[in-house]
Amino acid sequence: MGRGILKGAELEKRLLMQKSQGRKTVSVMRGLMILCEPCYGQVVEEKLVDQRNYVADHEALFGAICPGCEDINRPLMDDMLGSSE
Ligand SMILES: [Zn+2]
Repeated sequence: MGRGILKGAELEKRLLMQKSQGRKTVSVMRGLMILCEPCYGQVVEEKLVDQRNYVADHEALFGAICPGCEDINRPLMDDMLGSSE
């Protein structure tokens, strides 16, 4: 008995690890954008990232990502959108 039962904290830690493994980052002018797996796949497919994982066309990037990623990156996005005017 007692084998295979994960305590709450342990389980949470594993979930967090899975989550962070699913996150990808790309470089932009003002820092790093954190993207989920599908969004990262999309920006790669649309060739928005170069070999150094850098996105030059950040407006295209912002248009390509999901609301969840927008939320995570909101401060950086606001910063970059504000500064590009
Ligand atoms: Zn996303």
